[in-house]
Formats: sequence, structure tokens, C-alpha cells
Amino acid sequence: MIKRLAAFACLAALAACAPQQAENPVQIYALDCGRIAFADTAPFADNGAFNGVARDFVDPCYLIRHPDGDLLWDLGLPDAVAEMPEGLRIEALNATATVPVTLVSQLAAFGLTPADIDFIAISHSHGDHTGNAGLFAATATWIVNADERAHMFRDEARGAQEFSTYAALENAETRLIESGARHDVFGDGSVIIVPAPGHTPGHAMLFVRSGNAGDLLLSGDMFHMAESREWRTVPAFNHDREQTLQSMDIVDAITADENVRLIRQHVPEDFEALPHAP
Ligand SMILES: [Zn+2]
Repeated sequence: MIKRLAAFACLAALAACAPQQAENPVQIYALDCGRIAFADTAPFADNGAFNGVARDFVDPCYLIRHPDGDLLWDLGLPDAVAEMPEGLRIEALNATATVPVTLVSQLAAFGLTPADIDFIAISHSHGDHTGNAGLFAATATWIVNADERAHMFRDEARGAQEFSTYAALENAETRLIESGARHDVFGDGSVIIVPAPGHTPGHAMLFVRSGNAGDLLLSGDMFHMAESREWRTVPAFNHDREQTLQSMDIVDAITADENVRLIRQHVPEDFEALPHAP
């Protein structure tokens, strides 16, 4: 019974399970994996809250360095976009994506090549989070939940523009997380993948207890805009509205611990507040 209570405490307050802050060797770095300029962010609220609002998004990747391996969380826009003088036009969203500095060059600043990355995981399979998957598919272990993987490789997905960015993952060495389960990546509570479905069937967030930036919840695409959390906006392009709202409640439960800082991944101020490549 005591064990069951302890496990429940871990689920309610993720930080309670993780190593203490002092001498915590886990480090996190936010890498610049592109920018997306929206002339109109209307698609990010299905109630019209953002109609006519222009906004620039950041699109980070996160390098988490643990004594047992390096994990990349989210894989940004493709490095190949850096070669496009006008950027990559995304007509469906009336947006332009740019990559000012490549992921490969930022890893090199740590003395790393793509082959040195041990684990990759994505919040979800939209193209701005899978862009560089091809760099890692042959050498890293891909950690993914069963729902997102099935969504990515269903027949209808294979014709989509973004499919080519992650197609190589189909044959990657894969650690499959069962549907709806949290996953403790290194087994010590410091890095935990938390399911937050709704935006896509297997959308997920990442809890990190780091020594250099404290306790963080990287929220994937739960909140695209700075206003999204307070206004509880649900994007117009979204898999399951009710699930998305329930996942917002999961965010609230985890961040009820005031030591856990929420990182809204596309919001520039949250990106700027984290450590970057040396
Ligand atoms: Zn996104």
C-alpha cells in the first residue's frame, strides 16, 4: 500500500520522483531549429481569438545531456531550409519558415555530430517538429508512444508533405511506449515523457529536472501563442478538442508545483529564458 501511495505521489507531482537539485548533472539546452512567421495566426484558435494577429514563432529543439546519454526533444525544421534564400513557404498556413542556423552546427558547438545523439523523441509528428529526423534515424533510438507512431505511418499520412521529413523513422531502432503511459527515459525520474493527447493522437510533453535550468515542463504544441494557456484556445487544426482540454488540465496539475516552469515551445520569451548552445 505504501508503495502504491508513493507511485501516486509521483504521478501527481513529477518533481517528487526526481533526483534532488544539488549536484544534478542533467543539463538542458534550447537550440534554434528555425523560425516561422505567420501573417495571420487565426488557425491557432478555433473560436477566432487570433483572427488577423500576425506573430513570429520560434521552433526550438532541446538537447538534454544526461550521464547515461544525450536526448534530443523535437527535431525542428529541416536544416535544408537554411539553404533557401526566401525561406520555406507554407501556403496552407500563410506562413514562411526560416532556419538561421543549422542544428548540425549547433551540435558541433558541443563537440557532437548527429551520430553521437543516443535518443530522439518528438512532442508530435507535425513537420516543424520532425524536420531533422533523417539525421538521426540510422543511429539513435527513437522513443515514441504507440498512438503517435500509428498516426504517423497510417496510410493517409504517407501522402502528406511532412511525411518525407520523418519517413526514415519507420525503420529506426524504436522504444515504443504503451498508449497513455508516462515514460521515465533514464529510469531516475529526471526526464519523463508525459502523454498530452489531443493536438495529435499521441501528442506528448517532456518533464526535465535539470541542474542548469531547474524543473521544466516542455509543453510541445499545447500552447502555440503566449495567450493560449490563459484563454484555453484550441487550434482549428487539431485531432480531438476534448482531449486537448483534458491535457491542459494535466499541465495545470504538473505546474501546480511552483518549482516547475512551463516552457511553451513556440513562444520566443520562453526560448530566450533557457540556456543555449555555447
Ligand atoms: Zn509546432
